Amino acid sequence: MNDHDYLHHLPTLVTACGLILLVTIESWLPAAGNRPRRLRHAARNLTLGLLNALAVALLAAPLIANVAGWTEGSRFGLLNLLSLPPAMATVTAILLFDGWLYLLHRANHKFGFLWRFHRVHHSDPEMDATTALRFHTGEVLISSALRLAMVPLLGIALWQLLIYESLMLPVIMFHHSNVKFPEKADRWLRALIASPAIHRVHHSRVRFETDSNYSIIFSFWDRIGGTFQLRKDGRPVDFGLAQYDSEKWQRVRGLLTTPFQIANS
Ligand SMILES: [Zn+2]
Ligand SMILES: [Zn+2]
Repeated sequence: MNDHDYLHHLPTLVTACGLILLVTIESWLPAAGNRPRRLRHAARNLTLGLLNALAVALLAAPLIANVAGWTEGSRFGLLNLLSLPPAMATVTAILLFDGWLYLLHRANHKFGFLWRFHRVHHSDPEMDATTALRFHTGEVLISSALRLAMVPLLGIALWQLLIYESLMLPVIMFHHSNVKFPEKADRWLRALIASPAIHRVHHSRVRFETDSNYSIIFSFWDRIGGTFQLRKDGRPVDFGLAQYDSEKWQRVRGLLTTPFQIANS
């Protein structure tokens, strides 16, 4: 375990570097321009991101580290049963965990109780890299609690989980970003990875489009699950949720109370 101590800081480091890089590129090459309230928007999303980081550090991370340490020590779970060579075991761990998060994301849209929390992520009318951190703390804690069961079931070691997060965070910041990314490059990328063109459809106001493209890192989960969808005409996507557009819901207080109230304006 001590060999992998540096990995504990890797997800935070890649998040900070990725965010600075993407926010800079969004200023140069924005997909959608004319955003006079960009700073206020970023401050609100980052406040949620910081609250979540704090909640995870205090409540979830120590428990997950314990469970993952026990899983590795007792050689429990699917990956340990398979006894693969180390490199292949890590690739399999990344694939399995990404598949699990695809299913959890589908559940977040399907079940009303989970959607109450997840709609905070979808109510963002101006999607950019900071939207990747805009989740309700309730959703993050529910996901962390389920992780306590998934880590031993799949047999994932803590360092494999940290590698997964260090890959996932840059991918999700990139596919939320307001960067003008050429269609041709996106086509190449989305053959394997959930690209901006794919994830923008997921943030559409049209529910039929929102309920598609759940993939986190690898785009093939949506193809396998029959939930892959692209806009064939290439029209820009209108982001957000109609009932949650008003200032009341976009403030930090509104974002935090969104799961517990039904909006009528
Ligand atoms: Zn979603
Ligand atoms: Zn998203």
